[in-house]
Amino acid sequence: MTPEQRTALVRRDKAAVWHPYTQMAKYRAETDPLVIVRAQGSRLIDANDQTYIDANASWWTSLLGHNHPRLVQALVRQSEKLCHTSLAGITHEPAVRLAEGIVEVAPRGMKHVFFSDNGSTAVEAALKMAVQFFAQSGGAAAKKTGFLALKDAFHGETLGVTAVSDVGAFRAAFEPLLMPVTHLPSPADGLDRALVELEKELASRRGEIAALVIEPLIQGAGGMRMYDPLFLREARRLTELHDCLLIVDEVFTGYGRTGKFWACDYADVCPDILCTAKGLSGGVLPMAATLTTSRVFEGFLGEPERAFYYGHTYCGNPLGAAVASEVLSVYRDEHVLAGTLERAAKIAEVFLALGRIPGVESARSVGMCAALNLGQGGNYFETAGWDVYRLALARGVYLRPLGNVVYIAPALNIPASELDELLRVVADCVEEVARERS
Ligand SMILES: *Cc1c(COP(=O)(O)O)cnc(C)c1O
Repeated sequence: MTPEQRTALVRRDKAAVWHPYTQMAKYRAETDPLVIVRAQGSRLIDANDQTYIDANASWWTSLLGHNHPRLVQALVRQSEKLCHTSLAGITHEPAVRLAEGIVEVAPRGMKHVFFSDNGSTAVEAALKMAVQFFAQSGGAAAKKTGFLALKDAFHGETLGVTAVSDVGAFRAAFEPLLMPVTHLPSPADGLDRALVELEKELASRRGEIAALVIEPLIQGAGGMRMYDPLFLREARRLTELHDCLLIVDEVFTGYGRTGKFWACDYADVCPDILCTAKGLSGGVLPMAATLTTSRVFEGFLGEPERAFYYGHTYCGNPLGAAVASEVLSVYRDEHVLAGTLERAAKIAEVFLALGRIPGVESARSVGMCAALNLGQGGNYFETAGWDVYRLALARGVYLRPLGNVVYIAPALNIPASELDELLRVVADCVEEVARERS
């Protein structure tokens, strides 16, 4: 792309494209966006042939790197046969194979797979399943329509999941429309208090609460807040005790981000409903799945009106499903999880050291995810993280922050040399910004 072509494209972009999570006035006046034309492995390549290490695997999706040849081949092969059909009264091999494949790797007890097309819909479906499940379970349980969630939770953007989420910037404009949800103290702020409050709430509102919704181990968009797996085990025990469903949102943590295939695996926990997206299709196509136990599934059998009257146009899309099955094969054939051990140790070492420098409030890591806070709080409108972003970009690293939280969540198979470079750039840029601010 010539410089003139690039300039023209940016002009057209600013006239027609409304970007997500973006103040468009500022964007149109000041931002010279990256114009990405290709991507390969852990790198994005722009219109000037400049490469950038993708420190967040393109919004946490490209866990096997960009354009993995086997995923591209699976997509091409499937596209020559069948691109799309509905999943109503119809089935196809890609959907069946993927459902079986996910069940095989899922926590034991997950038996049925409901497809949709993004993380928000995976969780939205889970919320509706929980309410309808109790509504038709007979007796007093039919009154269970409430949800418990955690402070600083993020579960997506549709109205239902906005209500169970707790990131102020994403909720503020819609508060009057959101269903009431109790947001309990996050175990990231203290395990004991979180457990005490959870137990109290579940016991005192036993007849009302349909489900507890949590991001296991890492609260992602709320600031990469990490917590002890013991919370998962206890959350499972307590929800069972009080006949409340446990919905685990593995949209970010699933597919090995934390070092095990599911974050739930750290506590050997099987939820009632598990939501997955992002890594599921390796950053190739939008694809999501909501997994349930037999108990939940069987709650919908019987008369016509007991069915789950819910679906999305692209449920089980054959292209996405074919790619997602290939993702599972690549994890197996390339021993992707085993490969994260050494990488995760390196990441932990660097972030631990960064946590000790003045100006860095706290640092943490689990598996292939690490984060640190420059200053207090994870507010989205803080700017320290963006200072790091600009410095890193000039050195060939794309490192989008969450306010003043700087984090990395690279491809799980990022080559060692690129991981070293990424960590060096993160360390240098964080040190520079921390020095200026302290
Ligand atoms: C990203 C994310 C979602 C929403 O997924 P979308 O595909 O953006 O709708 C839901 N839950 C968690 C934990 C996420 O990280």
